[in-house]
Amino acid sequence: MERGGAAGVPGLRPSPLLVAATLIALWSVVWFVVTLVHPFTPAFAGWLATPVQPLLGAAAAWQAAGADGQGPTAQRFWQRFGLASALAGIAAASNASDWLTAPRHPPPAAPLTVSLHLVGGVLTLWALLGLPVERARRAGLRFAMDMTIVLLATGLFLWYGVLRHADGGPLSFTGSTLPLVLGAVAVTALVAFAKLAVGGVDGVDLAATHLLGAAFVSGLATGALHPLLGDRAGLHPEQLALPVTYLLVILAADRQRRAAGVTGPEQTRRESFSTVPYVAVGATGVLLVAVSWRDPVAGVIAVVAMVLTGIVIARQLLALAENGRLLTRVDASLQELRRVQDELTTQATHDGLTGLANRALFERRSREAMGELTGDQVLHVALIDLDDFKGVNDRLGHAVGDALLAVVAERLQRCVRSGDTVARLGGDEFAMILEHATPESATTVMTRVAEVLGEPISAHGHDLLVRASVGLAQAGVGDTPDELLRRADVAMYAAKAAGKGRYAHYSTDLDAHQAADARLAADLQQAIDSAQFDLLYQPIVRLADGRWTGAEALVRWRHPARGLISPEEFLATAERTGLIVPLGDWVLRAACAQAVRWRALFGDDAPVIGINVSDRQLRETGFASRVTELLHAAALPAAALSVEITEATALGGGSAIAMVGELRRCGIRVTLDDFGAGASSLDLLRRAPVQGLKIDKAFVRNIDGEASSQEVVISAAMVRIAAGLQLTASAAGVETAAQAAALRDMGYLSAQGYHFAPPLTADEFTRHLTASPRATSVPSG
Ligand code: C2E
Ligand code: MG
Repeated sequence: MERGGAAGVPGLRPSPLLVAATLIALWSVVWFVVTLVHPFTPAFAGWLATPVQPLLGAAAAWQAAGADGQGPTAQRFWQRFGLASALAGIAAASNASDWLTAPRHPPPAAPLTVSLHLVGGVLTLWALLGLPVERARRAGLRFAMDMTIVLLATGLFLWYGVLRHADGGPLSFTGSTLPLVLGAVAVTALVAFAKLAVGGVDGVDLAATHLLGAAFVSGLATGALHPLLGDRAGLHPEQLALPVTYLLVILAADRQRRAAGVTGPEQTRRESFSTVPYVAVGATGVLLVAVSWRDPVAGVIAVVAMVLTGIVIARQLLALAENGRLLTRVDASLQELRRVQDELTTQATHDGLTGLANRALFERRSREAMGELTGDQVLHVALIDLDDFKGVNDRLGHAVGDALLAVVAERLQRCVRSGDTVARLGGDEFAMILEHATPESATTVMTRVAEVLGEPISAHGHDLLVRASVGLAQAGVGDTPDELLRRADVAMYAAKAAGKGRYAHYSTDLDAHQAADARLAADLQQAIDSAQFDLLYQPIVRLADGRWTGAEALVRWRHPARGLISPEEFLATAERTGLIVPLGDWVLRAACAQAVRWRALFGDDAPVIGINVSDRQLRETGFASRVTELLHAAALPAAALSVEITEATALGGGSAIAMVGELRRCGIRVTLDDFGAGASSLDLLRRAPVQGLKIDKAFVRNIDGEASSQEVVISAAMVRIAAGLQLTASAAGVETAAQAAALRDMGYLSAQGYHFAPPLTADEFTRHLTASPRATSVPSG
């Protein structure tokens, strides 16, 4: 749509052309009125404005056509209209010359003047007919047919009036035919203008078409002054008609020039019913009846022909009315269909819970945005995965989880500009397409995401703190949208692997790392299928007498190519892929089998086997039942096993910590491992349902026997706090006799570490127990 609505026209200053034309029109009106009463200037003074004003009109029309932002329809129309105006100016000059040089008034019509007028009129029609009347091609054809009917009917009337009644003489080209054609063309142009000005034209300013219509009416009205002027020699209607009419044309052109490039609101086209052809046919019929009235036979035929025409028209009108009703019904159905379609489109492209774009729309938008990239432009995409969202769902229910997602969605939407897309790809995974973002602005958005998600979220009365792992990636011309998403995915997993609650930017290094990780995951799956694991046992030694009272089961992977692999190398991958669950189950079964063997050998003196259980395993529903089931199947008491959980598990809370409570209710001892390694708090000790804590080797490492060292002070304080909370305290990573002695003196009951023994095979462990149950005694400090 190019049409400039009246409301949208910027207030430019009127052009000098308009000012000049207004002055000329004013002068002409004053001159005409004064001369009517009393001529006060030589005759040629009245003819000065007649060629000038149309020429100014031509200039204004061309200015409008060439204005910046003018649409092609308006351009074409105003160019043609300018040409017609220029012709009118030349014709006016020729007419003025005819009048000024004629020996008597009115002078006979000069062929040149009449021809120029005719060409001008045809050019005006040409400009008008080139306008897109209605969108459908048929409608344009209908308009042309209407105009032809009007042209023929007007021509007929003029012919009848001028030729039959005026002189009845033979047709002369310049004397009668040209004025006749000219008259028909003028009337047709007027009707065309009236139609267009009322209905409006796509591409031409509506107010401008109204002004043009007014110009035509003014032209005809002032032309009708002819008989009023009588025999006032030297006065001619053109002297008033042209200055006034072309002032209106210049106003219209000025309006169009100012409306250029301003797009108004789309106006729906009114498919109006055209009465023009019916009026023309009716009038012609009346003329026919009037002419044939005197001849009874011809008169009857004419009347019957008129009645028939009337019936055919009535029939057509009835059909039209019926069609109109049908169309109204079809329109209503179409509107309903469109509404349903819109609804379906929204459903198909948006996420019902959050109202964000869904995966399909995200993929389409990223494809489109990638397609628009040129040169070294890049597109940024961020993937946002909420950490531990499942815990919220498990612990507080899905309603709270849903409310949380809705708030997160709304906050993410706040971080981006209106053209960007925020989508929910599924579950707790969100994505953003940052269009036209620079690396700096993309990073700023990531900081904003971290900020908004850092604020507590209130969901159904629960104040929740969410953390998210965010991956940011970019891609340029030649990359695919899939590749961009993959990169963001790689970055997001890197953020998760680096400890969650952070953001990572994609780099090719991450790719290499991920490829290795993917290989490891594939190998791990195979290793679980073919039981490539072993358990080693590290003794947990009672410090009082050096007795091996416990054995921590530590898993090892016998990789066919890489040899023995330590858990630190594959545990993160096992956790991420969920393979830790079947692996943990294997560990549990292997530990139970070993406990059975040791119980058979050593009875109640058999060491308690400590098993490391990860957060992921504890979130598996039925984990505690599985442990008791295995114990039961092996006829082992609950005390034969103990479980070690990490601080992260205890901190994460939720279903994992609920599972710890369940284990404890089943009689299984639970110890908090690596205490002090992370963000431990004493509050954690109070909240976590554990019975023991194992201080991290990092504390033990620096115990050097100096009673005043910080580690000694802290370790000593911890053992007292543990005792106060009825927790047993043990220590890990004891590498020297001095450390063992210091810990024992502080009150630690047991410890483990290379000083006593490294992780051993079950056979080595058994041999030790068999040979000397009290092998390693701790020297007294
Ligand atoms: P952790 O539970 O803290 O296990 C103790 C780790 O410290 C073991 O490493 C052990 O070899 C090492 N260690 C023992 N004594 C000393 C010492 O005197 N000095 C030093 N520097 N290190 C010592 P490992 O076997 O590589 O196990 C690493 C971690 O892997 C374990 O830490 C545990 O969290 C995890 N892990 C091992 N086996 C399993 C398993 O079956 N399931 C799960 N979920 N985690 C396991
Ligand atoms: Mg452990």
